[in-house]
Amino acid sequence: MPAKILNGRELAGKLKDGLRQEVAALKSRTGKVPKLINIMIGKDPGTCAYANSQKRVADQIGITYELAMLPEDISQDTLTEHVRKLNSDESVNGIMIHKPVPASIDYHAVANCLDIRKDLEGINVANIGKMLLGETQIIPCTPAAVMEHILSTGASIRGKEAVIVGASEIVGKPLSLLLLQQYATVTVCHVATSEAGLLEGHVRRADILVVAVGKAGVVKGEWIKPGAIVVDVGINQQGERIVGDVVFETAKEKAAYITPVPGGVGPVTVVMLMRNGVEAFKSQVKGVKDKK
Ligand code: NAP
Repeated sequence: MPAKILNGRELAGKLKDGLRQEVAALKSRTGKVPKLINIMIGKDPGTCAYANSQKRVADQIGITYELAMLPEDISQDTLTEHVRKLNSDESVNGIMIHKPVPASIDYHAVANCLDIRKDLEGINVANIGKMLLGETQIIPCTPAAVMEHILSTGASIRGKEAVIVGASEIVGKPLSLLLLQQYATVTVCHVATSEAGLLEGHVRRADILVVAVGKAGVVKGEWIKPGAIVVDVGINQQGERIVGDVVFETAKEKAAYITPVPGGVGPVTVVMLMRNGVEAFKSQVKGVKDKK
């Protein structure tokens, strides 16, 4: 039987509904809504689809979302100063740094200047450490979206073989921690796994397979274990089409659940950013926890 398609737009819609209600309740309790700032260095917001979709989703949920446009030639010091001002601005609850940044900017250094309570994407080393310990609600957005997809199937994660293909800082590595926290047995594959000719063998064992590489067709459909949950994070332009990293047509004949590309992980990722914004707000604003 072909796989059930994990529709990211539907899942994002449900998650947005929950957040909209939560933001409305927070507003009636505190008189405020979360305010998020996206720092964009040297880009034209009109051409930045990701920022536009963030703004649209924030509007739908009732969150205030603003772009802070900074010049391409901004110095590291001036940027740091800007971030520090936002850190101490009580009206701002969440800050993100739009990537990529110009080559002259040290992204990690800026990330580490963020007030950890306002670090919308969970990129400050302190938040990464807290995630390792399971002590923060601020989870990097794409791994959080992958977890929502897996949880939406209702399948138990405990004791399952979870294989992640791709070990980046923003997807594969943090996701490995989240799956480990749910007691999956986690294998993380990377470029050297493929070089050693071992990728297929690992993929074939996966009850839960997440692929985040950025190479179309890096995982063949025939490799999928029958009944697996497959989450494809990859985004690749193939002529006019956007495709994932997994060969979808053959994979869907073997998997129990599979995310499409586009329309799978992407729409949920944006909602996860907003969820982090709500969590950030709750950690900062007085009166949130006082009354029910
Ligand atoms: P990245 O930083 O380039 O990392 C890619 C990872 O894949 C690296 O760990 C790399 O290994 C590994 N890799 C490269 N070639 C491989 C191969 N042949 N076999 C196995 N592993 C291989 O990319 P990323 O930022 O994580 O993004 C990955 C993909 O997800 C991209 O297509 C990106 O556009 C997409 N993405 C989607 C969303 C969303 O919301 N839908 C969000 C973020 C990213 P090494 O580390 O060993 O080099």
